[in-house]
Amino acid sequence: MSDKFDVIVIGAGPAGYVAAIRAAQLGLKVACVDAFAGKDGKQALGGTCLNVGCIPSKALLDSSRQFYNLTHNFDAHGISADNAKIDIPTFVARKDKIVKQFTGGVAQLFKANKVTPFFGKGKLLKGNQVEVTAADGAKQTISAANVILASGSVPIELPFARFDGKTIVDNAGALDFAAVPKRLAIIGAGVIGLELGSVWKRLGAEVIIIEALPDFLGSADADIAKVAQREFKKQGLDIKLGAKLGKAEVKKDGVHLVYTDKDGEQKLTVDKLLVAVGRRAYTDGLLADDTGVQLDERHRIVVDEHNHTGVDGVWAIGDAVRGPMLAHKGSEEGIAVAEWIAGKAGHVNFDTIPYVIYTEPELAWAGKTEKQLTEEGVPYKTGSFPFAANGRAVAMNEAVGQVKVIAHAETDRILGVHMIGPGVSELIAECVVAMEFKGSAEDLARIVHAHPTLSETVHEAALSVDKRAIHKGN
Ligand SMILES: Cc1cc2nc3c(=O)[nH]c(=O)nc-3n(C[C@H](O)[C@H](O)[C@H](O)COP(=O)(O)OP(=O)(O)OC[C@H]3O[C@@H](n4cnc5c(N)ncnc54)[C@H](O)[C@@H]3O)c2cc1C
Repeated sequence: MSDKFDVIVIGAGPAGYVAAIRAAQLGLKVACVDAFAGKDGKQALGGTCLNVGCIPSKALLDSSRQFYNLTHNFDAHGISADNAKIDIPTFVARKDKIVKQFTGGVAQLFKANKVTPFFGKGKLLKGNQVEVTAADGAKQTISAANVILASGSVPIELPFARFDGKTIVDNAGALDFAAVPKRLAIIGAGVIGLELGSVWKRLGAEVIIIEALPDFLGSADADIAKVAQREFKKQGLDIKLGAKLGKAEVKKDGVHLVYTDKDGEQKLTVDKLLVAVGRRAYTDGLLADDTGVQLDERHRIVVDEHNHTGVDGVWAIGDAVRGPMLAHKGSEEGIAVAEWIAGKAGHVNFDTIPYVIYTEPELAWAGKTEKQLTEEGVPYKTGSFPFAANGRAVAMNEAVGQVKVIAHAETDRILGVHMIGPGVSELIAECVVAMEFKGSAEDLARIVHAHPTLSETVHEAALSVDKRAIHKGN
């Protein structure tokens, strides 16, 4: 096998593997280096997202949602099931099977597209060479005209609450508990904390979320965050805002936590602690000293608007660079970079990236919040519609939440859409399309939406921007 390629990608997460496949589709000879090993010790392509992130968390969210509905919500439909039980080994094994299916799927896609995988740690050397070090220490060097750095991110560790994989865990650990913890504390009320907290709460754990910031979901629209906070509270998630963890000590009877809130020092003992305070770009050991690639103060690889590092033929994408840490953002950057390398026009529109939180109810948004627009001095108008007035949501017994459309006060162009409610992870796609096409609220309002569907809330919210929603007062 020749060790010269057109493109070498370091990292096979959703940024890297997508870049590799797109580059191969464009006729380039591609290698992809990744060090991630699955539970069987073999190479598991797909990065954080497929192995310990997006996909496994959604598998557990779905199983736990089914169990919660069975034990809490089905009685409203006249359905009862006595002694409902959940078998945690089966619950986790189902998730593992899905992970294997998808990581194996990436390997198949590599084969079909003739992308050569290398299993080991990749290090960029000067002159676009990549040194690959296997788990046994064996080294080989490969080279390419272009190298795409897609090394992703890892969980941030707190110095006083080090991960031990058993009691103090990161996302990977919290996806693999052998039993439902009696009491689970989570540090961080962000996406990961809320999603994994929901999973274990639905299965019966007492879940306490400790968040240092005073506002709940500060990056979401304030109205949407308010509904979310109320609903999560109803579900029994104990979210403590403005609370700062100071100490976590593992003892025989669990983890002893000390945190401070507005009332002073508080103590709490839990069985498990999930630290979900964010992720940091993972660039450890990625670059030889003389490559010329720059890192910023947060160890992210510095790139321009075309994801170029400034070093000839070296690009970087995904969680390892600026921008939101989302799988689809990394994948789009991967496609764009492959196209730029092949001399085509790549494109990533940061203004229409959708954000989703897969809790119950789900949250989804794209574009600006009212707060951002006020700060920017942009005149806007809003329209909203509640799921309580949507026939399909009521028929499903999931009539919680709302859709809010924000449009420019003068041009009517859609500037943001913010949702909480059933199925909004799917509903947001329609709004992203409208925004990408620079649509107006009136455009959305004039589109025929099937009845009865959840999507009618988008239609009605768009109508409501001009105070002409049909199924509510304006
Ligand atoms: C619990 C959880 C749930 C999430 N849910 C969602 C979600 O629902 N939707 C969403 O959009 N995002 C979600 N995310 C975020 C998402 O997983 C990341 O944004 C995404 O995986 C980033 O992709 P990436 O390709 O940049 O990096 P990664 O997926 O982190 O992949 C990087 C890969 O590179 C490898 N690597 C790193 N350095 C080297 C090296 N030097 N040599 C060889 N290999 C190397 C790593 O082992 C890894 O396999 C979630 C994350 C977590 C933790």
